[in-house]
Amino acid sequence: MFQSARLKLTAWYLIIIMIISLLFSLIIYGGINRELERFSYFRQTRIGMYRFTEHVLPSPFDPEMINSARERIVTVLIFINIGILGLSGVASYFLAGKTLKPIKKMVDEQNRFVTDASHELRTPLTSLRTEIEVNLRDKKLSLEAAKKLLESNLEEVINLQKLSDHLMSLAAYHGKNGSIVFEKLQLAKVIEESIKKVQALSKTKKISLKKDIENSEIMGNRQSLEELFVILLDNAVKYSEGNTVVKINSKKNDGVVVTKVEDQGTGIDQKDIPYIFDRFYRADKSRSKDKSSGYGLGLSIAKKIVELHGGKINVESKPGKGSVFTVSLLVS
Ligand code: ADP
Repeated sequence: MFQSARLKLTAWYLIIIMIISLLFSLIIYGGINRELERFSYFRQTRIGMYRFTEHVLPSPFDPEMINSARERIVTVLIFINIGILGLSGVASYFLAGKTLKPIKKMVDEQNRFVTDASHELRTPLTSLRTEIEVNLRDKKLSLEAAKKLLESNLEEVINLQKLSDHLMSLAAYHGKNGSIVFEKLQLAKVIEESIKKVQALSKTKKISLKKDIENSEIMGNRQSLEELFVILLDNAVKYSEGNTVVKINSKKNDGVVVTKVEDQGTGIDQKDIPYIFDRFYRADKSRSKDKSSGYGLGLSIAKKIVELHGGKINVESKPGKGSVFTVSLLVS
């Protein structure tokens, strides 16, 4: 598809260049021809005058010479046009490739996104379907077993809903490049709202959330920044054992506000750290089959949000000890 689009674009470039080149050639030929005719007319009048006075003009410009000059000009113009056709053909092909490169990258990226998303959707849908089919075939299915099945199905559906929300979020942030609406925000309030959203899960797991926030005014998008801290806090709680502590602290330093989300959880293996911000990447593959873990989209959304705010996000982690995610944003 890319190759045929490149050839089509090359053809369009060539058509435009050749139309311009032929028009120029016609104008040049017309101009020179007019000059030759004027000169020939002038010569004839002068010759007439000389004949009248019985002088013979030593003329190097007889009509035949003028005609052959015309022919030579046409030949030169044809050669110039063939040269332009060849050169611009090569240049157009090169330029068409350059023009289409970012479009190709975007299309490839979108295709990958659709393939990854369909793959991720297929796995839970298949397990949901199998579970329902197996239980429906069971003639002696008790009410208690049916309830358990419904509970399990509900959990799958909630996870699928989360997946679709994350996919939509990711697609929206990718389309937004630079067009996100910013306002003046109190970072402490944003973090407070994010904490509220993960409190239910942290209470269930008996994990205490501790905060130490130095308020800063920043230019940002409230909804997306809340989403960013919810992702980091949710992960910190999700990947920690019960009765541990998750800390969030924020400090201003040299025009930058640095927020750290720290947990005492499972930690991340060094080999996984370069990839955890990639779409659909889950560090612990065995744990990723667990229904409570996500689909590997949270951190890629977090990274995109930080990038849209011109900030930085990184992680330090020790397996078995815990992780610290650091977000640096500019103070307004
Ligand atoms: P998920 O929805 O699977 O949590 P994320 O993109 O949020 O996806 O995270 C990618 C992977 O990074 C996770 O699968 C997990 O293995 C690892 N990870 C993220 N945050 C933490 C954390 N606080 N502690 C341990 N591992 C983490």
